Amino acid sequence: MAEQFDVVVIGAGPAGYHAAIRAAQLGLKTACIDAALGKDGKPALGGTCLRVGCIPSKALLDSTHQYWNMQHQFGQHGISFKDAQMDVPKMVARKDAIVKQFTGGIAMLFKANKVTAYYGFGTLQPGNVVKVKQHDGAEVELKATNVIIAAGSDSIELPFAKFDGENIVDNVGALDFTEVPKRLAVIGAGVIGLELGSVWRRLGAEVTVLEALPDFLPAADAEVAKLAAREMKKEGLDIKLGAKVSKAEVVPSKGAGKGKKKEVAIAYADASGEQSLVVDKLLVAVGRRAATKGLLAEGTGVQVNERGQVVVDEHCHTGVDGIWAVGDCVRGPMLAHKGFEEGIAVAELIAGLPGHVNLDTIPYVIYTAPEIAWVGKTEQQLKAEGVPYKTGSFPFAAVGRAVAMAEPVGFAKVIAHAETDRVLGLHLIGPNVSELVHEGVLTMEFNGSADDLARICHAHPSLSEAIHDAAMAVDKRAIHKAN
Ligand SMILES: Cc1cc2nc3c(=O)[nH]c(=O)nc-3n(C[C@H](O)[C@H](O)[C@H](O)COP(=O)(O)OP(=O)(O)OC[C@H]3O[C@@H](n4cnc5c(N)ncnc54)[C@H](O)[C@@H]3O)c2cc1C
Repeated sequence: MAEQFDVVVIGAGPAGYHAAIRAAQLGLKTACIDAALGKDGKPALGGTCLRVGCIPSKALLDSTHQYWNMQHQFGQHGISFKDAQMDVPKMVARKDAIVKQFTGGIAMLFKANKVTAYYGFGTLQPGNVVKVKQHDGAEVELKATNVIIAAGSDSIELPFAKFDGENIVDNVGALDFTEVPKRLAVIGAGVIGLELGSVWRRLGAEVTVLEALPDFLPAADAEVAKLAAREMKKEGLDIKLGAKVSKAEVVPSKGAGKGKKKEVAIAYADASGEQSLVVDKLLVAVGRRAATKGLLAEGTGVQVNERGQVVVDEHCHTGVDGIWAVGDCVRGPMLAHKGFEEGIAVAELIAGLPGHVNLDTIPYVIYTAPEIAWVGKTEQQLKAEGVPYKTGSFPFAAVGRAVAMAEPVGFAKVIAHAETDRVLGLHLIGPNVSELVHEGVLTMEFNGSADDLARICHAHPSLSEAIHDAAMAVDKRAIHKAN
C-alpha cells in the first residue's frame, strides 16, 4: 500500500530541497526523492548545483583565480616566487571534497528536519501518486496531498557533437579534466561556457569560444558586455562571435602519442566563410533543458510545453489539484537561487501562507574575472519598452578600496526612472560584484530610488562606494568624478 505524505517532492536540487525542508518546518509530513548518484556511485542530494554546477565550478574558478593572480598580479604587490605549479588532480580533489561536504550536508538537513529521503527515479501517476524506482530495483508508491515537481535540467546535446565523456563533454566532464587540455573549444559563450572556459584558460589551455549569436552576452547591459569581452580577450579567451558550428568529430590525434590520443575536428561557419579548428577537448555549453523525460505517466493532466518545461502559473501551480512545479523545470531564469525561492514559496502556499517570488528582482551573476552581476532592466530593454530613464555610472578605478586591492577594472551603473527616480536596474562589472549586486536587489524590493541609495551611508573604503557614487551620479552629484 502507498505510504501517505502531505508533501512529496520529486528532485532534491536547490528548488526541491528548499521546498522539502520548508514544508517539513511547517509541520507537513514530507518526502523527497532524488535519482542522482555522486562520483563515488552513492546517492548525492543537492542537484546540479551542488554536484556539477554552482559549487564545483566556483571551487575551480577560485583555485584558478589564485593561480592566475600569482602569475599576473602578485608582482605589483612585491611578491615574487619561483616555479609555481598547479597540481590539477589536487585541485579537482579539493573540489570533490567540497561537493561531498555539501551534498552530505543536505542529507543531514533532511534528517534534522524529518524529511524522508527516497533514492531513485520518481514518476508522477494520476491521483497524486508518485512511483519510485529505487537504485536497488525495488519500487515504492507514495501518495501525497501535494506533489512538488523539482526535476531540474540537463545539458542540451547537439546532434552533431554527442557527448562521449572524454573528448566531447558537458559541464560534468569539464569539471573533471585530469590534466590541462592544450587546446579547448567551447560551443556557447553563455555563463557556463565562459566560466569553465576561464578555468582552463587560466591554467594555460588555448581556449576558443564559438558563439553563434552576433552579440556577446546580449542579456547583460551593453557597456558591461563590451568591457567583459575586452577583459576576457586579455585573459586569453579567443571569443568568436557569429560562429555556427556544423560538425565536431572525434578523430585519432595527429600529434604526440599518435594512434592513442584523440582530438576533435570542428567545422564552423562565420562571416568570412567555412572554418575549421582542431582541439583536444570540446565543451558543449549551449544551454540546458528541463529534465521532464519519463517524469509524468499518462493521464496526470500536467502540461509540458515544447521546451520540455512543466507549465505553471505565477504561483508555480500546474493547474492540476495539488501538483506544483519549481526551479529549472519551469519558466524563468535557470538559477539556483530562483529555485530556492520558488521551493520556499510553494511550501508556504501549501501551508496556507502567502508565498511569493518576484522574478523581476532575481540577481544574475557571472563569476568570470572581472565578475559580472546585475539585477533589473538593462538600458536596451528600457529603450525597447519606451520607459524614460536616467543613469549614473562610477568606475572602480576611482574607488580607493578597489585600487588598494589592485582591482581597478570595471564600473557600477545605476538606472533609475527619469520621472520617479525609482531604481530599475543595477549593472556591475568588477571586483566582488557578486556580493555587491544585492544592494540593488534590496533597493528594488523596497521600491527605493536612486536618491535613497545616494543618501545611505556606505563604509569607506569599500567597493560598495562605487554604487554609492553611481547613485549620486544619476543626478550628476557624484563627488569623486566630474559629472
Ligand atoms: C556548470 C554550472 C554552473 C552553474 N552555476 C550557477 C551559479 O553559479 N549560480 C546559479 O544560481 N546557478 C548556477 N547554475 C544553475 C543551477 O545549477 C541550476 O539553476 C539549479 O541547480 C536548478 O535547481 P533545480 O533544483 O531546479 O534542479 P537541479 O539542480 O537540476 O536538481 C534536480 C534534481 O532532481 C533529480 N531528478 C530529476 N528528475 C527526477 C525524477 N524523476 N526522480 C527523482 N529525481 C529526479 C535530479 O537528479 C537532480 O538531482 C549552474 C549550472 C551549471 C551546469
